Amino acid sequence: MPADLSPTQLTAPELMLAPDQLMLRDGPVPDHAVVISGGKFADVGSRAQINARHPHLVELPLPGKLLMPGFVDAHHHLTQTFGKALAFGEPSEIFRRIWVPLEGVLDDELVYLTAKAAALESLRGGFTTVVDAGTRAEGSVAAIAKATKEAGLRCVLGFICNDLGGGAAVADRDIILARAEAYLARWRDDDLVHPSLAISIPEAATAAMLRETSALAARAGAIFQSHVNEHLVAVERSLAQVKRRPLEHLCDLGALGSHVLIAHGTLVTPSELSMLRETNTAVAYNPVASQWKGNAVAPATLMAALGIRFGIGTDGTRSDGFRLIDAAEAAQRLAFGLTTGDSSCGGGWTWLEHATIRGAEASGLAGITGEIATGLNADFLLVDIDVPEFSPSWDLTWELVRLGNRDQIVAVFVAGRLRLWRGWPVDWDGRAVMHEISSRASVAVAQAHIERIHPVSKLHRATALKRKHY
Ligand SMILES: [Zn+2]
Repeated sequence: MPADLSPTQLTAPELMLAPDQLMLRDGPVPDHAVVISGGKFADVGSRAQINARHPHLVELPLPGKLLMPGFVDAHHHLTQTFGKALAFGEPSEIFRRIWVPLEGVLDDELVYLTAKAAALESLRGGFTTVVDAGTRAEGSVAAIAKATKEAGLRCVLGFICNDLGGGAAVADRDIILARAEAYLARWRDDDLVHPSLAISIPEAATAAMLRETSALAARAGAIFQSHVNEHLVAVERSLAQVKRRPLEHLCDLGALGSHVLIAHGTLVTPSELSMLRETNTAVAYNPVASQWKGNAVAPATLMAALGIRFGIGTDGTRSDGFRLIDAAEAAQRLAFGLTTGDSSCGGGWTWLEHATIRGAEASGLAGITGEIATGLNADFLLVDIDVPEFSPSWDLTWELVRLGNRDQIVAVFVAGRLRLWRGWPVDWDGRAVMHEISSRASVAVAQAHIERIHPVSKLHRATALKRKHY
């Protein structure tokens, strides 16, 4: 990159960018260029073609840079910012002891602030789209939408429709469905917010509610989300309540389908894998969630081989796209590849594809984002590949999975607009939001009646010494 490249060169209403490498669906290519206009990729092709077709534009060469699609976080909780590290070391069903109490103290202002801070983290980590599973907070979902729109992050935003509690207010089914319908209509034509309906876990809703919420989402062209088959305790609770596992229950109700995105799917039987495939239901594979708090790892390599649709999500663990795809590959190797001698385990491309184009498809955003292609929204990253870790480069795709790092992201664009330059927003004060969050965190957390089982590191050392365990 020429030393004089500045963010102002990337803010023109129309841009012709010629990076060193352009990441297309089939892999990286040199000598290509893109034209960005009206928030979209107006043209993509060889440099010669692009220059010939757009003589009124001046090409901006980007030597040493990769232009790649932004990552899609297929499962996130934008309002859990206060509690990220509070969940470390906790056993399963953290939502009961930490997330629900914490979300319970978030009013509109705190929902807005936590979501905005989370949106900043996502953009810094290279995510241009996140799928939010919905908040159980008192504060409105509109406050999340305001935050993500201001930050410039694309968001598939869940509206929770639980009618059996599960952390959300219990309300009459018809009232919830009327609200859901109004919510879908409110955001239907928004450029950055894509409305979605959610039920936190299938056990948090009646059979009729599960069926009707899924059907309403399908009719509206929105996705329906739920956390399914993540922990053994949830699977067994469902068996006790309805005599079926959560995924079987949804399938029996006719609530699965190509508009459905289930989070986790870590504990899936062969027949449940068949259900996913037959109903064309998508999964959010959340490898870091497995690493930090899971009972199992979703069999994503197997899902890919079976043609089961999936994206890759953070589940609010850490918003770093490169570390996420590294974890996606590593978790498959450790959980499945080692025992079968599978040294490829999907290769690098599987994880990059599912964190971009396949993730967009799983999130209901096919044809909207997820790849560098004419007509799609210009949601992309400029990544510095002129670094020792990528030199010499033999397999750029796999190198991104194993060697890529957030600090290589020079610029983040969403809908054709430069949102972040070297990790910080170009048109709003990211540090101010971060500091405001820090100053509000202790009061909010103290109010929340959080029940932690695991002590923080220092206390743990002291306790361990006392018990002479170590
Ligand atoms: Zn989740």
